[in-house]
Amino acid sequence: MLVVMKAQATPEEIQAVCDHIVQLGFRPHPLPGAQRTAIGITGNQGEVDRGNLESLSGVAEVIRVSKPYKLASRDVKEEDTVIRFAGSSATIGARDLAVVAGPCSIESRDQALAIAEQVAAAGARFFRGGAYKPRTSPYAFQGLGLDALKVMSEIREKFGLRIITEALDSDTLDLVAEWADVVQIGARNMQNFSLLKKAGRLRKPVLLKRGLSATLEEFLMAAEYVMSEGNYEVILCERGVRTFSDHARNTLDLSIVPALQRVSHLPLLVDPSHGTGRRDSVLPMARAAVAAGADGVMVEVHNHPESALSDGPQSIYPEQFASMMVELEQLAPIVGRTLPRAVSAAVQ
Ligand code: PEP
Ligand code: MN
Repeated sequence: MLVVMKAQATPEEIQAVCDHIVQLGFRPHPLPGAQRTAIGITGNQGEVDRGNLESLSGVAEVIRVSKPYKLASRDVKEEDTVIRFAGSSATIGARDLAVVAGPCSIESRDQALAIAEQVAAAGARFFRGGAYKPRTSPYAFQGLGLDALKVMSEIREKFGLRIITEALDSDTLDLVAEWADVVQIGARNMQNFSLLKKAGRLRKPVLLKRGLSATLEEFLMAAEYVMSEGNYEVILCERGVRTFSDHARNTLDLSIVPALQRVSHLPLLVDPSHGTGRRDSVLPMARAAVAAGADGVMVEVHNHPESALSDGPQSIYPEQFASMMVELEQLAPIVGRTLPRAVSAAVQ
């Protein structure tokens, strides 16, 4: 159920509607829009009696949301969600393309700082790096944990990059949220519902990667878990799905870009690194992602990929990243976007 407020509704009227929804035993989710505020209602099993709600002051109409995902749906919020960061002009979901770059894992302070310097110089605004790694083998490198978070905090200070890193479990979620600007929930955790709910109680944006075999609806329902707890800053990330196709690690499903944008207001990034698993496919698929209308890309960059502790074969060299940025900058206006590189490029 959705309460659409009148354009001229006052904050007091919005609050009164929220209070009324709480009294009914449900949860209100006020979502301010450019024209008017909509208040999503969750926690109800069936229909909410709309009669009383409709008579409250400032209410324009009460409508039923038929999709299973509600807060993630465009029915509830028509305009695109834009994620902003205090002290930075970087955004995710606005006209500017968001580019997230960095190694799969933070392996050492020297490695991370060297890569960060190069991606910042090429114009990236966001740095990624794993501190806690979801590895197929328990014997593989698991990440440097807190030490890696501290290195990334140094990178934020030094290069002005916003930090995106994965929280692998609820034990480390709060710690990751304390150090990172965006908390990543990985593909393997996309349906870890207790972790999603806990991430919903954070006041930090969450980057949610698509599960290895998740449908569009399952993906948005996972986002809904986070939003239902009151955290509306969810960034979706397509990172390839499992198919019979065996020429690449995964099949990057770019057709989900327009499909998601049709039904959801949430920003959407594409990860062509995990999506292909191959260095030589990253640039073509990054171009394709931008051409398809994605809000940006997340790519793995390594200065010595041949000796990387994880995902070396899909990590591009910093020089390749720099050319990718030039190409994406040229491509951006064709799809009505910009790629502002000026600030960081000045570091060069
Ligand atoms: C990652 O981005 O570091 C990662 C592990 O990705 P995914 O969860 O998509 O496999
Ligand atoms: Mn990786």
